Amino acid sequence: MNLWDDTLLYNSRERERLTTNIDADVAIIGGGFTGLWSAYYLKKLDPTLRVVILEAERIGFGASGRNGGWCSALYPTTQGYSEVRPHLLTSIDEIGAFAHDLAPEVGFVKSGTITVARNKAQLARIQESTAPHETYLSKGALLGRLGMKGALGGLYTPDCAVIHPGRLVRALAEQVEKLGVIIYEQSRALTIEPNLVKSKDGSVRATTIIKATEVFSQNPRSHAPVYSLMVATEPLSDELWSEIGLAHRETFSEALHLVNYGQRTLDNRLAVGGRGARYLFGSRLRAKHEMDHRVHQEIMELVRDWFPVLKKTKFTHRWGGAVSIPRDWHPYISWDKASGIARAGGYSGDGVTLSHLSGKTLAHLVLERDHPITTLPHVNWQNPMWEPEPLRWLGVNGSVLATDLADREEAFTRRPSLIAKALNSFIRV
Ligand SMILES: Cc1cc2nc3c(=O)[nH]c(=O)nc-3n(C[C@H](O)[C@H](O)[C@H](O)COP(=O)(O)OP(=O)(O)OC[C@H]3O[C@@H](n4cnc5c(N)ncnc54)[C@H](O)[C@@H]3O)c2cc1C
Repeated sequence: MNLWDDTLLYNSRERERLTTNIDADVAIIGGGFTGLWSAYYLKKLDPTLRVVILEAERIGFGASGRNGGWCSALYPTTQGYSEVRPHLLTSIDEIGAFAHDLAPEVGFVKSGTITVARNKAQLARIQESTAPHETYLSKGALLGRLGMKGALGGLYTPDCAVIHPGRLVRALAEQVEKLGVIIYEQSRALTIEPNLVKSKDGSVRATTIIKATEVFSQNPRSHAPVYSLMVATEPLSDELWSEIGLAHRETFSEALHLVNYGQRTLDNRLAVGGRGARYLFGSRLRAKHEMDHRVHQEIMELVRDWFPVLKKTKFTHRWGGAVSIPRDWHPYISWDKASGIARAGGYSGDGVTLSHLSGKTLAHLVLERDHPITTLPHVNWQNPMWEPEPLRWLGVNGSVLATDLADREEAFTRRPSLIAKALNSFIRV
């Protein structure tokens, strides 16, 4: 079960389905962070707007209710990052202000993130990559903050906060409703055409339609859904935490090539996630794939390898979800005035903060309000399509496999991986 769903403070009430034909100014498809932040900023900019959200399942069903809770300034590509970065920092602070004022239960704490090097190749990589906002931590300095076995050094960046994503997405839904937005649950948009969205038992006629369905978007060649899986321990004792550290709830990861991420939760568990699950032919999504036993086992082994004191600790929760990876790893936001259709996504696993920036940007774009964020590089970005199958299947799964092999190579040779070098010029997953 998903830890976040299991540790909500309250069960949000079920909302009505759309069962009639209605009119609105803006219809938003998808009740995750992108859709909800769009609604939030639309109503902040123009309280008179009629905004409705159609959610196929329930609020928080998608990645927004399942993620690792890193509210970071990460961006999936280096292209345009220097321009986007200041706005991501603003978004972190604005999410923080929202949580502070309206949803303290989210447990937003901006204590930064620590990347740990556990072999010489990882160490060389993090020493090379030190940016002005990052501080290199010697082994001694690192171990004072995070007691990970085999650590040689680390990198610290202050630009990351930790959150309980399940509580944030639900609190956001409650707040947009207070602003007058109507949310319909169990109301899947079946067809979307200019000015009209149809679901099974109703429709919305609207001037603007925002597609905020990210990894659930229909075109299989527009993105590759790649599964990220998570596990969480039982709450840990103070004694165990005194050995592990993370006294300020910093998020953390090992400098592996294969993505991994951890946080100390509000109720003192370790929640850790990682990639490595196989990509499904045809960009399919399968609930069964969220529970890939092999990947969950590998993540648990990694956690026990990091922290041998957790040898006897129980893992109480396992879950997962898919992240949306465009061919060029470039996030996109677009609005076509002629058709009234807008969309945003392609966050490649970095969407907690980016979705806030997207929602705010979409609101400014469709209301034609000037703001520097409406001219950022990812606005009106055209992503190339992925290769057709079976090339996509071969390419994505080949790179998942090679990424894992690159880490094994580095652990063995202690030198920067040649596999990773070859992979960088081909495809990253
Ligand atoms: C396991 C995991 C860990 C992650 N960890 C992090 C992290 O730590 N930090 C980070 O920045 N990012 C992380 N991410 C990525 C991040 O969670 C997402 O990028 C972000 O939540 C996407 O938000 P969204 O609103 O665009 O999409 P979603 O939250 O997926 O919302 C889309 C919604 O659209 C609905 N929908 C789909 N089709 C239709 C339809 N036809 N009609 C109506 N509704 C529809 C879905 O039910 C869903 O609720 C992680 C993702 C996963 C899966």
